[in-house]
Amino acid sequence: MKLTVIGTGYVGLVSGVCFSDLGNDVICVDKDAKKIEMLLNGEVPIYELGLKELIEKNRIEGRLSFTTDISVAVQEAEIVIIAVGTPQSPSGEANLQFIEQAAREIAVALNGYKIIATKSTVPVGTNERIKTIVGELTDHPFDIVSVPEFLREGSAIKDTFHPDRIVIGAENKRAAEMMIELHQPLTNKIIVTDVRSAEMIKYASNAFLATKISFINEIANICEKVGADITLVARGMGLDRRIGESFLNAGIGYGGSCFPKDTNALIQIAGNVEYDFKLLRSVVEVNQMQRFNVIQKLVDSLGSLEGKTVGIWGLSFKPNTDDVREAPSLEIIPALIGMGAKVKVYDPVAMDKFRAFFNHESIVWCSGAIEVAESADALCLLTEWEEFRNVNLQQIEKQMNQPILVDGRNVFSHKEIADTGFYYYSVGRPMMNSLQPYDREFLSV
Ligand code: NAD
Repeated sequence: MKLTVIGTGYVGLVSGVCFSDLGNDVICVDKDAKKIEMLLNGEVPIYELGLKELIEKNRIEGRLSFTTDISVAVQEAEIVIIAVGTPQSPSGEANLQFIEQAAREIAVALNGYKIIATKSTVPVGTNERIKTIVGELTDHPFDIVSVPEFLREGSAIKDTFHPDRIVIGAENKRAAEMMIELHQPLTNKIIVTDVRSAEMIKYASNAFLATKISFINEIANICEKVGADITLVARGMGLDRRIGESFLNAGIGYGGSCFPKDTNALIQIAGNVEYDFKLLRSVVEVNQMQRFNVIQKLVDSLGSLEGKTVGIWGLSFKPNTDDVREAPSLEIIPALIGMGAKVKVYDPVAMDKFRAFFNHESIVWCSGAIEVAESADALCLLTEWEEFRNVNLQQIEKQMNQPILVDGRNVFSHKEIADTGFYYYSVGRPMMNSLQPYDREFLSV
């Protein structure tokens, strides 16, 4: 099939490339000329494992191209996929300016029947709005379809090729059948719904996952106070198939470009129809507070942070991506600096993107995990990159002024810590130090 994807961000680029790999002819469009220039030069504007190779392969095989010219790209396509950003506006609602602009640009370029499919996460009713905008600017026939995207940064290619399900929100059989044909090579778990339900499935799914995270974080906070261990509690809960093991990792809360904005948008969507989504408001509040628990632990262990050096491991909102949008690091680091700390930071891939959001003279940019530890009064792990899991803790400890480790993602086991002199603070687990004998071999950790 002939596809055009509007927006070459995390979703548009990965989807476009994967669809081309399935044998479709794909044109990826972006209005950001720099991104397109990079892609034309064989560079990739985002960090996603395996993406560069897949782009190269499909460009060489002639199925994938990049352009800033939306008009030609739309005219070539049978299906136009909108994958532009829908960031949060100050009110919490989704900002639809990029969607509306893309709709207008598609409309004036139409030269015959096309499907206009929206992958961007958009509030209920947005696809109908797209239909109105396009319909006002063209006489050509078209159908709108909602195909919400569920890929995760860090495993985006795998998620695209092996989705749990595909949701197609269509208005008629013709459009539904074309979209089924496009997605059938990926999975047979395709659910066809009306357009509004498809839009709602995306928000409801993200809200549910965010709820699971805030729930386990609150249980973790209670565990700390009652002397239970959240790792064991989560394992015991997760084995119940009605609950499931995923999204039960306690930590410093969710971030990224989706959960924070999508939960706020759903609260607004509900509010617009005079429904107070109390549960989701609490989920957001809990998440916001959770990231500051690591700061409290630093204060508990160091006293005043004035003049202290705090090492930070990890800046991206999760491992295997360079995305720092709404990352906890963007709030924690400025707060530490505000409390008088000097901050040494390292992330395997997200340093440049973080620096573009926040830079300060109190930050020392390091080139590795060990350099961060040198002369630090405490270390604080914010992103669970594999590289940090594999550090030699004894070697790290030797570099530091004081052996204090605040693990915001529960990366290390108590057994690993017992072999060191660290004072170890994690989330929802008892504080550990070498004075406490390790007597937990019999537990399922
Ligand atoms: P992004 O910000 O990384 O990329 C969006 C791209 O669209 C940018 O490159 C921008 O230049 C381009 N763009 C905007 N308007 C344009 C126009 N008129 N013509 C051409 N290009 C245009 O965004 P993203 O993270 O890929 O997210 C896109 C959508 O998918 C959002 O609605 C998001 O909520 C949703 N989503 C994202 C993820 C994720 O993990 N990032 C997962 C599922 C769904």
